[in-house]
Amino acid sequence: MLAGKSPLEQFDYGDVVLTSDLHEKQLDQTHAVLMGLSDDSLLKPLRQMSGQPAPGEDLGGWYHYSPDYQWGKDDDGFAPSCTFGQWVSALARMYAIRRDQPTRDKVLRLNRLYAQTISGDYYENNRFPTYCYDKIVLGLIDSHRYVGDPDAFSILEHTTNTALPHFPKHAVEHGRDWRPNKDQSWTWDESYTMSENLFLAYQRGAGDRYRELGRQYLDDEYYDPLSEGRDVLAGRHAYSYVNSLSSAMQAYLTLGSEKHLRAATNAFEMLSKQSFATGGWGPDETLRAPGSGDVHASLTGSHSSFETPCGGYAHFKLTRYLLRVTRDSKYGDSMERMMYNTVLGAKPLMADGRTFYYSDYNFHGHKVYRPTQRWACCSGTLPQVAADYRINAYFRDAQGVYVNLYIPSTLRWNQDGAVVALTQKSQYPFDSVVQLEVTSSQTREFTVNVRIPVWATGVSISINGRRERQLATPGSFAAIHRQWRTGDRIELDLPMRLGLEAVDPQHPQTVALVFGPLVLFPITDTQPQLTRADLLAAKRMNNRTWEVKAAGGVVKMKPFTDIEEEQYSTYLRAI
Ligand SMILES: [Zn+2]
Repeated sequence: MLAGKSPLEQFDYGDVVLTSDLHEKQLDQTHAVLMGLSDDSLLKPLRQMSGQPAPGEDLGGWYHYSPDYQWGKDDDGFAPSCTFGQWVSALARMYAIRRDQPTRDKVLRLNRLYAQTISGDYYENNRFPTYCYDKIVLGLIDSHRYVGDPDAFSILEHTTNTALPHFPKHAVEHGRDWRPNKDQSWTWDESYTMSENLFLAYQRGAGDRYRELGRQYLDDEYYDPLSEGRDVLAGRHAYSYVNSLSSAMQAYLTLGSEKHLRAATNAFEMLSKQSFATGGWGPDETLRAPGSGDVHASLTGSHSSFETPCGGYAHFKLTRYLLRVTRDSKYGDSMERMMYNTVLGAKPLMADGRTFYYSDYNFHGHKVYRPTQRWACCSGTLPQVAADYRINAYFRDAQGVYVNLYIPSTLRWNQDGAVVALTQKSQYPFDSVVQLEVTSSQTREFTVNVRIPVWATGVSISINGRRERQLATPGSFAAIHRQWRTGDRIELDLPMRLGLEAVDPQHPQTVALVFGPLVLFPITDTQPQLTRADLLAAKRMNNRTWEVKAAGGVVKMKPFTDIEEEQYSTYLRAI
């Protein structure tokens, strides 16, 4: 793959300060909701499932536990406590960002209260025992790393010792029986996603057993054909099988398994071919066969186009691993598209459990909360996504740093003993110019690598006002190597053009209008009569609005982050 090169390193959460309102609003809102949930409410289903007294208000929604829950009839009670570990993980990451005592205290308190609930009954009474365990593992290892919880690993040991007797001995594919089940939904557990966090637990010092458990739960029934280039995605549950590819990446990083790296890189290409222009995938939570026409059919047949917070979380993790290992900028391009056109435009998580779940790419699309999805799985991943934008933005190696996402922010790091800061200022992607400014406690020689998106043409890079034409190749990282000192400036211009992307090769006239990394969504409740030329002549009215002249009048176009209640479409049938 890249002989001799070790993977790029991630920065810590505290190394990056984001100054983008759009990103920080999502972090603030999710942080406020999680901090507002009482400890007793958060512990309630864990205590109930373990047969303990469970005082306090019931959160309801998916989080609620009812022994009499009937799948297909009841809205509330589908996945009791399943987001607990993700919320602890998100709070730990948020503490690493904000360093505020109440967040730290809450994490420490929740872990201790949780430790009192650990029981085999919790796993026996659980539709998703390995799913819940996987999230609890992540919450505990993040507590160890970001909050410094001294008991996190001993609580993890207690959890693992208690949980394992209730698990299958290897990864079990979605929909397959492995124990006596109450109904079909009891076959939907996700043991094939556990290896990633088990390998992370090993890497962070929880013990060798976690490396062996990571190996034990690798889903080679899935990875083997993928590693040979056979597309076995079709029919599989979308989010969890994309999430499972991060376990394949960890098998490469932890065990050095090239087969698992091949499986993940091949699967990314297969996934790209069935993705919407937004970067989303998996209509009705199902991965599709190439050439099936399913993705096009979903534009009329479904409003459940992309499971957004969970899918975004899985996609960011996979592309982050792939970018670190391969240094291929296409994974950064993919992250950027996913970010602006899907999860950054998610409706906020609400204190009463309202959760944004599906992006809707139907010709008659709406952004909605569905009453059946209070405290759904996506309420677990959205806070993690919101915390993680900063670790997606920058990476490093011994020679310097990689600027992967253009988000107003400041990165601080130590370069050969000097304290260096890199500050980004821009209105990107609503303006093509990005300014980067260096401050450094001492002059240092290093490389700043900046991502040049594959769609950019006529790119320019200036350093301290002097243009460096030869650097800018779209679809690569441009390496700027020099002696850096305080006041040095990079100005990057990434000109964006309008373009059309067909939903699939069989339907070349069903197109989305894109502008650089942005999809422009027509705000319309009817299918306007438009030609390709009409769309490509869209006029920019202001920073965030475009207009297209159609036979019946003017159609307004907006990015996903700016859509609220209005009906929109993602694709149009050009005539
Ligand atoms: Zn979800």
